Amino acid sequence: MPSPNLAQYAITDLKGVGPKAAERLAKLGISNVQEMLFHLPLRYEDRAKTYSIATLMPHMHVSAQGEIEQANITFGKRKMLVCQINDGTGRLTLRFFNFSAAQKNAMQPGKFMRCFGEVRRGRVGPEMAHPEYSIVDTMEESSSESESLTPVYPTTEGLKQLSIRAIAEQAVELLRKYDIEDHLPKQYRPNQLSLKDALLLLHSPPQNVNLTQLETGQHPAQQRLAFEELLAQNLSLLKLRQKSQAVNAVSLPPTNSLEPEFLAQLPFKPTNAQSRVVSEIKQDLQKSEPMLRLVQGDVGSGKTLVAALSALTAIAKGYQVALMAPTEILSEQHALNFKSWFTQLGVETCWLGGKTKGKERTQTLEKIANGQAQMIVGTHALFQEQVVFSNLALIIIDEQHRFGVHQRLSLREKGKFGDCYPHQLVMTATPIPRTLAMTAYADLETSIIDELPPGRTPITTVAVPDTRREQVIKRVENACLEQQRQVYWVCTLIDESEALQCQAAEDTAQQLAKQLPDLKVALVHGRMKAQEKQQIMADFKAGLYHVLVATTVIEVGVDVPNASLIIIENPERLGLAQLHQLRGRVGRGDIASHCLLLYHAPLSNTAQKRLGVLRDSNDGFVIAEKDLEIRGPGEVLGTKQTGLVDLKIADLTRDKHMLPSVRGLAFDLLKHHSASVDPLILRWMGNRSEFAMA
Ligand code: ADP
Ligand code: MG
Repeated sequence: MPSPNLAQYAITDLKGVGPKAAERLAKLGISNVQEMLFHLPLRYEDRAKTYSIATLMPHMHVSAQGEIEQANITFGKRKMLVCQINDGTGRLTLRFFNFSAAQKNAMQPGKFMRCFGEVRRGRVGPEMAHPEYSIVDTMEESSSESESLTPVYPTTEGLKQLSIRAIAEQAVELLRKYDIEDHLPKQYRPNQLSLKDALLLLHSPPQNVNLTQLETGQHPAQQRLAFEELLAQNLSLLKLRQKSQAVNAVSLPPTNSLEPEFLAQLPFKPTNAQSRVVSEIKQDLQKSEPMLRLVQGDVGSGKTLVAALSALTAIAKGYQVALMAPTEILSEQHALNFKSWFTQLGVETCWLGGKTKGKERTQTLEKIANGQAQMIVGTHALFQEQVVFSNLALIIIDEQHRFGVHQRLSLREKGKFGDCYPHQLVMTATPIPRTLAMTAYADLETSIIDELPPGRTPITTVAVPDTRREQVIKRVENACLEQQRQVYWVCTLIDESEALQCQAAEDTAQQLAKQLPDLKVALVHGRMKAQEKQQIMADFKAGLYHVLVATTVIEVGVDVPNASLIIIENPERLGLAQLHQLRGRVGRGDIASHCLLLYHAPLSNTAQKRLGVLRDSNDGFVIAEKDLEIRGPGEVLGTKQTGLVDLKIADLTRDKHMLPSVRGLAFDLLKHHSASVDPLILRWMGNRSEFAMA
C-alpha cells in the first residue's frame, strides 16, 4: 500500500474527533494529521514517577496514589465531591466540582486510586483540584524511575488536554507507520535528524532525554525543526523577491547632471556612510531589474539626503520619483525639504495627502499624470486609484515599520508603466534588530548608514517621576531664557484615540502657558489643518516659539537644531524605538541636549528596564536589539508583519544564532534544490496570507 500523505489525512478520520472537536482543532490551525504532528507539546510531565504524599509540595504537577478512605458529596457554596486517599505517609484530599454519580460510586473505600494533578496547600494537608485519576486494584511499587514523559499540548477552550493528547497519540502512530516526506536534503539537516525522528522524539521523548534542553527549546530535535521553519520562511521571502525581480525596470546611469549642482548648494558634505550607501543604491538603479533595498540608519543619520541623491539619479533622466511617508506631517516636511533643495535645480516637487482637496487636488493629479511633477511626496494617498503616474522610476518609502509586504507590492503595481516596474528604496525610521531584518526583510538588500554627521553631542537622558513636574518646568524656563534654547514637550496617552491625545496636548499647552508667562508656547497635533501645522513648525524652527507642545506626531522628521531639551510624558507607554525616535528631535546641533522621561510611578519591571536602556544608550542599533529582547518580535515589528510572528516552533530571540546559516542555505536550496523549495514553503507557511501570494 502506498503511504498516505499525512497532510491529506483529515483529522476527522481519527478516533474521537467529531465535528465539535474538529472545530476546536481548527482554531489551533489543525485540520489534518500533519498539522497535528507540527503542533508540539508545550512542556512535559513526568507522570510515571509516583511521589509519596508526605513529599508533596504546592505547585508540583505530579502523580500520587493511595487507598481510598472516603468519598463524600459536600454542599457548601458549591456542590463538590471530596475524596481522601492515604498511602501510609500521609493523606491527600481530592476535590471535584463536576462529577457524576457513577464517579462517586466508583470511589469505594478500600480501593486504590492513582491521580495526577497540581498540588495545593489545603486546610489540613495537600490537595488537588479535579485531578486526572484512575481507580486501580493494587498500589504500584512507588517508583522514582521515570519511564516516559507525558506531553502537554497547547490547547483551546473546550478541548481537554486528555482529548488532544489522545488525538496526538494517534497522529504519532500514523507517523511511525507511514513516515512523513522530508523536503530538506540529507546533507542540510541540522544534527542529521530526519523530520520523522525529530517529530517522534518531541511527541514522545524517551526516558533518558535531557529535560532541561527540551524545556528551553535547545534540544537538537527542536533546533532541527526551528531551523527548517526559519528556512521555509526565508525561502518564501526570497521567492517573493525573485518574482519581484523577474520583471523589467529602467536602468539609470549612476552619474547625473543634477548632482554636482545639488551638492554645491548643500551647506555640508555627505558623510562617508551616506556616500557609500548612495553608491550602493546607484549600482542597483543601474540594473534593468527593480531594486529592492532597505536603508537602515539611526535617527539623525541623514537618510533624507540619501533619498534626495537617489531621487536625482532618476529625475536627471526625465523620470518621476515618489516618496511616501506614513503621516501627513512627516510627508509635508519632506515635501518642504525637497522643494527647497530641488526648485533651484529646476525640478518640480509636489505634495499629495488625504487633505489635498478641490482645485488643488485636480491640479496636482494633473501634474503627476502629465509628468510635470517630477518629485512627488505624500502619504498613502499617492496610491489611490485616481493617481496616475507618468513615468515612475523610483519609489522611496520612509518609515518601513508601518508598511507591510503587501503594501509594498501594491505600490509597485501602481507605478508600473509600459513593461517597467519602479525601483524601490525603503528607509527605516529607527534601526531594526539584525535578526529581524534577516527574516522580516529577507527579500530586501540592506544598506546601513553607520555614522552620524559630524559635530553631534550625545543626548543625556534621565527618568524623572511626575511628582517633580514643577522642577521640570523650572528647567524648561531655564533652557529657554538663560540658554536661549528651545524645548519640545510631548504628550502621550494610552488611549489610541487621536481626539483624546490632542485634548491632552491642548490642556498641557494651556497649563504650561500659564505657568511660564514669559515663554511663548505653541501647540501642534494631528487634528490641526496641514497648513496651520506647517506654519507652527516653521515658526518654531524660526525661533518664534520657545516651547512646542506636541502629540507623538512630531516623532518623525521634525528638524530644529536649536532645540536642546525634550520632555516626554508617560514614556512608559511607548515602545523603545518610538522613544528613541522622539528623543532624536534634540541633539541635532552641536549643543549638549537633554531628554527628560517624565514617568508616572510606580513603574512596572519592564518599563523600568526599558527606560534604563534608553538612559544608557544613544545607539539606535543597540536599543533595537534590547527592544527585541524585552518585547519580542511581534511587538517590535508591529501587527502588519504577523506572518513572522506566527512562527510555530522557531523563536527569533532564542534561535537567532541560526539565522546566518539559514540565509546561506536558503540561497543554496534555491539554486541547487529548487524542487524542495515549494513543498517546504507550503508545509510551513502554507496557510498564512502574508506569504500566500509568494
Ligand atoms: P534621519 O536619518 O533621521 O531621517 P535627517 O535626514 O532628517 O535624518 O537628517 C538629520 C539632520 O542632519 C538634518 O538636519 C540634516 O540636514 C542633517 N544632515 C544630514 N546629512 C548631513 C551631513 N552629511 N552633514 C551635516 N548634517 C547633515
Ligand atoms: Mg527621516
